[in-house]
Amino acid sequence: MERVYNFSSGPATLALPVLERAQKELLCYGSTGASVMEMSHRSKMYLEIFDEALALLRKLMDIPEDYAVLFPQGGATQQFSAVPLNLMTGSGSADYVDSGNFAFLASEEAKRYGTVNVVASSREDKYAYVPALNKATFDPKADYFHIVANNTIYGTRYTEMPDTGAVPLVADMSSCILSEPYDVRKFGVIYAGAQKNIGPSGLCVMIVRKDLLGKANPLCPKLLNWKVLADNDSMHNTPNTFAIYMAKLGFDWLLEQGGVAAMERINIEKANILYDFLDQSKLFKGAAQKAFRSRMNVTFATGDAAKDDAFVKQAAKAGLINLKGHRVVGGMRASIYNAMPVEGVRALVDVMKRFELENS
Ligand SMILES: *Cc1c(COP(=O)(O)O)cnc(C)c1O
Repeated sequence: MERVYNFSSGPATLALPVLERAQKELLCYGSTGASVMEMSHRSKMYLEIFDEALALLRKLMDIPEDYAVLFPQGGATQQFSAVPLNLMTGSGSADYVDSGNFAFLASEEAKRYGTVNVVASSREDKYAYVPALNKATFDPKADYFHIVANNTIYGTRYTEMPDTGAVPLVADMSSCILSEPYDVRKFGVIYAGAQKNIGPSGLCVMIVRKDLLGKANPLCPKLLNWKVLADNDSMHNTPNTFAIYMAKLGFDWLLEQGGVAAMERINIEKANILYDFLDQSKLFKGAAQKAFRSRMNVTFATGDAAKDDAFVKQAAKAGLINLKGHRVVGGMRASIYNAMPVEGVRALVDVMKRFELENS
């Protein structure tokens, strides 16, 4: 069986060298005679892997010392609850931008714990853009300000992060972390489900400014309490050891590619190949407004559901899978995270060209 080009939004394709290395090390890691999956999370062998994963992420993202790096479980969605449970304890109010499905879900969950001020929304326009922000609508007493940096389902991204002054900026970066350099110092909290740009699902990668630890609601479950995680090196209970190992292999690979800045150049190239084709196509149209186009999730459609369907099937036959758009949006979506090679994007455009010729 040949490997295909997998455009899944997540769990998403992993870099081939990462999978090959995991395969090679699966039965016996190094000289241990055991699989990483079988190691105690407190063993010296495993702690080396864990510490290396932390160190590599710190290096890749230039994370300052006054930020803690945590590896909680429960993906990104768990943090939709954990963010208010850890932070909504001052004024009891937080600002949220409603820029897509996950942003909306995060704000709905936060409402269970306090007051949510939705400062802007593009919901009425089917989230085709990231809404403009007006500082006058920001609450200066908010406990935090929440955004989703890249809207995975609709294919839009923030081109500039909001300036929230003294209010900590909390960003869900599930689908864009490590895809371009971000200045960590501008954020109070960054969190990301691992299954898009890092490794297997279930793991969450978090970066928390240390002064934001220790403010949790007394009812915050222990395992969601960032201070408990930070004080116990994310090992209050058994962490997702294998996913963290896979993340480490991914970080190694990313560093070999030249790091995040080098990856950004490749990501821009990949996105341009697709958007340039969409902009001149008579059949396919890009769904997101140009100024807000995501480099990670490219959404498009023909405007005819039957043709969209036929295209997804034809592409799958050519070895390009998971191009169907999210069920609430329809159309197509090509997720082209770090691990998707330029050749995969070129192959997709070739299939689109052929389909357009045959169907117009
Ligand atoms: C995928 C995704 C999520 C959900 O992640 P889970 O790990 O499934 O909880 C949340 N936010 C964004 C932006 C995503 O892309």
